[in-house]
Amino acid sequence: MNFCIPELFNFILLITILLGLSVGSFLNVCIYRIPRHESISFPPSHCPNCMNKIKWFDNIPVLSFIILKGKCRNCKSKISIRYPLIELLNCVLWIVTFIYSDNRLQCLTGFAFSSILIIVSCIDLQSMEIPDSLNVAILLLAIVKFIASLVLGGDLKDLLIDLFVGALAGSLLLYGLYMLLLKLVGKEGLGGGDVKLAFACGAFLGWKEVLFGIALSAYIGLLVILIYSIIKRKGIKGAIPYGPFLSLGFLISFLFFDDIYKWYMLKFFGLII
Ligand SMILES: [Zn+2]
Repeated sequence: MNFCIPELFNFILLITILLGLSVGSFLNVCIYRIPRHESISFPPSHCPNCMNKIKWFDNIPVLSFIILKGKCRNCKSKISIRYPLIELLNCVLWIVTFIYSDNRLQCLTGFAFSSILIIVSCIDLQSMEIPDSLNVAILLLAIVKFIASLVLGGDLKDLLIDLFVGALAGSLLLYGLYMLLLKLVGKEGLGGGDVKLAFACGAFLGWKEVLFGIALSAYIGLLVILIYSIIKRKGIKGAIPYGPFLSLGFLISFLFFDDIYKWYMLKFFGLII
């Protein structure tokens, strides 16, 4: 985002970093509790080993982990490195969103979108499932973005096309891939949760960005499998969660689609759009 006053940019960047870390800490709670069907607001944070309530000064993102040397103050059981890593990941994604967003609406919805996708990816990685509640959260975000864009003077027809055609295009393409994999490999390569995720993200992103995001996720997925097979010198057995690849593709598409599209049209067709 561009600001007339550089000091204002630096100040808001600092707020973004601090808030990004704090929300990252909350994402850890969501990643742990949502698959267990526990409330994300109650009880307050506690050690899963000794159940001791974590004091506020032991709950400072990243810093507390370093001070406590990755151990619970009470029972000395190990705290997973995953906690500070998620806090840092959320912070980094918020910084990238803040810097590369074209306007305030894209920036604010981008914060929420990237944080929800972190939860989606982590839960999919650990349980091979994408909870419906997260897809509903992305759908609600799509509706918020739709209403805000309308209030800011967006064209109703264009916004409706983005919302509905986006959701349909995303889910249909992924359903097509799902059926294709089922026929080719004979087993389910994608899950119903992935199709629902593409539906929700399609409503949020619009049809161009969601299709580009899915294509990108397939490319990244194949690249990762190829690199893994070369390093380990064996193929991957069993299912791999596709949610993290989809999330990465959608996030890149959300932030950079316009720039990539402009570059592509200029490079290959000589068109300036
Ligand atoms: Zn403990």
